[in-house]
Amino acid sequence: MHFNRRRFFELTAGTGALSILSGCRSTPSGSRASSHHRRVAVEELDKAAEKPVVQLDGLNSPLIIQSIELLQKGRDCFVHVRTKDGAEGLAVTNGREQVLHPILNRLVIPYFIGKDARDLETHLFEVYRYRSNYKLQGLALWCPVAWVEFALLDMMGRITGKSLGQLLGGVVRREVPFYIASGRRDSTPEEEVEYLLSLVEETKAKAVKFRVGGRMSKNADAMPGRTEKLIPLARKTLGDGIDIHADSNSSYDPLKAIEVGRILEDIGAVYFEEPCPFDHLEDTKKVTDVLTIPVAGGEQEYSERRFRWMIHNRGVDIVQPDLHYYGGLIRSTRVARMAALAGMPTTVHISGGFGFIYMLHFASCTPDIGRYQEYKRNIERYSGWFSRPLEIRNGALIVPEGPGVGIVDIAEVLKGAKPFA
Ligand SMILES: [Mg+2]
Repeated sequence: MHFNRRRFFELTAGTGALSILSGCRSTPSGSRASSHHRRVAVEELDKAAEKPVVQLDGLNSPLIIQSIELLQKGRDCFVHVRTKDGAEGLAVTNGREQVLHPILNRLVIPYFIGKDARDLETHLFEVYRYRSNYKLQGLALWCPVAWVEFALLDMMGRITGKSLGQLLGGVVRREVPFYIASGRRDSTPEEEVEYLLSLVEETKAKAVKFRVGGRMSKNADAMPGRTEKLIPLARKTLGDGIDIHADSNSSYDPLKAIEVGRILEDIGAVYFEEPCPFDHLEDTKKVTDVLTIPVAGGEQEYSERRFRWMIHNRGVDIVQPDLHYYGGLIRSTRVARMAALAGMPTTVHISGGFGFIYMLHFASCTPDIGRYQEYKRNIERYSGWFSRPLEIRNGALIVPEGPGVGIVDIAEVLKGAKPFA
């Protein structure tokens, strides 16, 4: 279905007209998320977000943070924490430390030194206030906070013998179905489906994600006609047994997004990610209102209040905080709790090579994660750090066993690591 541009803007000019459009929603197969949405009062969402996340039982003595260091070894960088009593925890960063290390070292680490790690949930707000850090509110602040949070949670998991999922409320699953993402735009539709087939063959994934549009491109495609040809070709080539996701990376205005969304609906795609510029919540909501395919978004979001807005107003159907960009597992769990009240899944975005491990722990303790999580083909790279090799079983990744993140021997992993310089 193709919309006339002028007619669309006439229709969406008033909220009354918009609700007429959204009243036309139907629910074809593949569009599951939106049908469960419930309107929830903002106060109820706040209450869900404010509930404590970390299970502190078993942590009976103070855990006074003595040192936090950014280290590097090969392609990986780490944040290593130690308490006065010698407890330690480790986080693996997502690559953003290359430019964000001054924020970590000058504005985040100094806040945490001397604090009790058990008060972590309070620290997440206080570090935001510290030295007016809130003026930097965004990924540049929250990535460094996330690394410290991951390391402190790892440490508390090690002390109590709990995995991150147990520490964050309890494990609800150990197997996490994944999609394999192409991540390319330089391919013709024919080359792209060939590539997708090879990824499915290699990983035995039951789902894929490919990119549509041109990325932040004001409706321009990566190459003329690529998107319109790729979507049906992917379904035809992959067959009905493979689930399909598409991500426009903020490519479209609402009219074009709806056009592309309709093609995705025609092939029964699972969801349509970031149809409009990511911070244009109103435009994204227009698309969500009109389409029956679930719209997903939130990977660059850093504000709890804006996530609350998206959930309260159903700006998207599926929320996607990035565990690094959004400031860690605790803040992301708060989003997931708000989303759950509204009947919306939380399918986290993944940044960094090791990021899928944090995703697995998050998925282990979050009841509604949607149908598939992302996998970036890097289990071999980290397998040796865990008690059992990381594993794919029947289209699903297996959550590593604890304690903490599951890294067996911090000293061994950090052997030869040097202070970041
Ligand atoms: Mg994306």
